[in-house]
Amino acid sequence: MRYISTRAQTAGAADSSNRTFSEILLGGLAPDGGLYLPARYPRIDESDLAQWRELSYADLACAVLARFIDDIPLDDLRTLTHRTYTPAIYGNGRNDSAAGEITPLRWLEPPAQGRGEGGLAILELSNGPTLAFKDMAMQLLGNLFEYVLERNGEEINILGATSGDTGSSAEYAMRGKRGVRVFMLSPHQRMSPFQRAQMYSLQDPNIYNIAVRGTFDDAQDIVKAVSNDQAFKTRYRIGAVNSINWARVAAQVIYYFKGYFAATRELGGSGGRQVAFAVPSGNFGNICAGHIARMMGLPIGRLVLATNENDVLDEFFRSGVYRPRATSETAATSSPSMDISKASNFERFVFDLVGRDPDLIRQLWSQVDAGGSFDLSSMPCFARLPDFGFVSGRSTHADRLATIRRTHDRYGLVIDPHTADGLKVGSEYRTADMPMVVLETALPAKFEATIVEALGHRPDRPAGMEGLETLPQRVEVMDVNVNQVQRFIARHVQ
Ligand SMILES: *Cc1c(COP(=O)(O)O)cnc(C)c1O
Repeated sequence: MRYISTRAQTAGAADSSNRTFSEILLGGLAPDGGLYLPARYPRIDESDLAQWRELSYADLACAVLARFIDDIPLDDLRTLTHRTYTPAIYGNGRNDSAAGEITPLRWLEPPAQGRGEGGLAILELSNGPTLAFKDMAMQLLGNLFEYVLERNGEEINILGATSGDTGSSAEYAMRGKRGVRVFMLSPHQRMSPFQRAQMYSLQDPNIYNIAVRGTFDDAQDIVKAVSNDQAFKTRYRIGAVNSINWARVAAQVIYYFKGYFAATRELGGSGGRQVAFAVPSGNFGNICAGHIARMMGLPIGRLVLATNENDVLDEFFRSGVYRPRATSETAATSSPSMDISKASNFERFVFDLVGRDPDLIRQLWSQVDAGGSFDLSSMPCFARLPDFGFVSGRSTHADRLATIRRTHDRYGLVIDPHTADGLKVGSEYRTADMPMVVLETALPAKFEATIVEALGHRPDRPAGMEGLETLPQRVEVMDVNVNQVQRFIARHVQ
């Protein structure tokens, strides 16, 4: 399996193309500024589906990932997926699955037997250590990083900025890992007390929290400045684990398979049954994995993309216009992990949509990178959009509150505001011919204020997290100052 860049000068020949999985694992963007994708998607058939249907999550992960990774021996890969996907690691939330499932499927409305009517279900992806779906991929990344770094005799210092979910997920994945240090910048006093406590209470010596006296964008700018300092970057082996990391996307493909098998279990027979997935989306990483599962041959009938008020992606799927917003145009909403101005993984999908034409991608993104937009509505490829199964919709604060209330009243289930966006839009696209599976992206305990606003009471805290805010915290507070951050890193890296 070889990887190419979406912006490769000439396919197969350019410097940025023809890489192996391990070669792109620790990196971010390709040197030409593009994103990595498999040169060809692996295809699965009926017999693969039949064989994979009953596998445990860890074995399914190994089977799926082996189609994307050919430079890690299969036995090692199996060891890594079994170390990652355990009931102990994914049993933190409300996972009450007696069968020790990693991603239980919860039917809100089971499919009506015999009539082929589509049911409505939530796929639980948030029972990992930080109560958000990002743990599904990030925990694997921690083990893959440790494995590859040890094999190559290397070390890495991960530098990132977070407004909440990504930073904590990365820290819980990398804590205690040999060869890895994490320096995570967060905006001082701008995260929820729960989010702060989650990150700052970590006492592992390889995890460093830095709170900057500024906004998330200030923190992000510092990360960019440090990453653009090539001498510093090389000397201190600076890396990242942001959402464009290919291994994170690949790891997310696994749960689309698992969710498909769970949703079709009771329908009887596997032959050609289709399932729809509704995905609360921000940077297009989660739903990009669904697109790839579908390209591999998984019978996904519909991919429903849900945005909040920051509707850059909904606008594209409705109009063909991709117009990233300015920071000042980006609203702070009650589903904050979807508050994006541009969708960093979107280039991967557009690459496939335009027939994998890197020249066109370079042209489109030269407009985007210059602060502009592009419009595909008059291009033949836009007419082919339905072939990719995508539909979209948006959800507002009022929709979130109403959906949280209705879900609580009808099904006795408290959902988080992001999952509510997915359920709201997914419900609009339900049809009788296939089940609709909504991907749960976080647990309500992370977003107490909105739950209180919707229901008048606080959501349950998972066992063991009741006193999180009272634990001792370890954080370095700094001004918005690139040099100060660089000095801090230098002091802690030998
Ligand atoms: C990251 C995140 C999202 C958005 O996922 P993308 O892969 O960026 O589209 C949605 N909900 C929650 C809770 C998240 O943490």
